[in-house]
Amino acid sequence: MKYKKICPKCGGQDILMIPGSCGAYGSGNNIMLGATIFSGIGVHRYICGCCGYSEEYISRHDLEKVAQSSKCRHI
Ligand SMILES: [Zn+2]
Repeated sequence: MKYKKICPKCGGQDILMIPGSCGAYGSGNNIMLGATIFSGIGVHRYICGCCGYSEEYISRHDLEKVAQSSKCRHI
């Protein structure tokens, strides 16, 4: 969805993107990993304008911070 810009559910191509903002504490649009430097992870949200389906992505830069967090582990 992020790359094809096509909804995987209904095939719609009216995709809306809401960029996450780093450091926007308490905005409700960021994943909180506790009171650490990871608190401001930016989450980009893609929403289908046809059926309302949404997906969320963490930016590649922030993914590195998440992977290095002691709160996060591979499964
Ligand atoms: Zn859709």
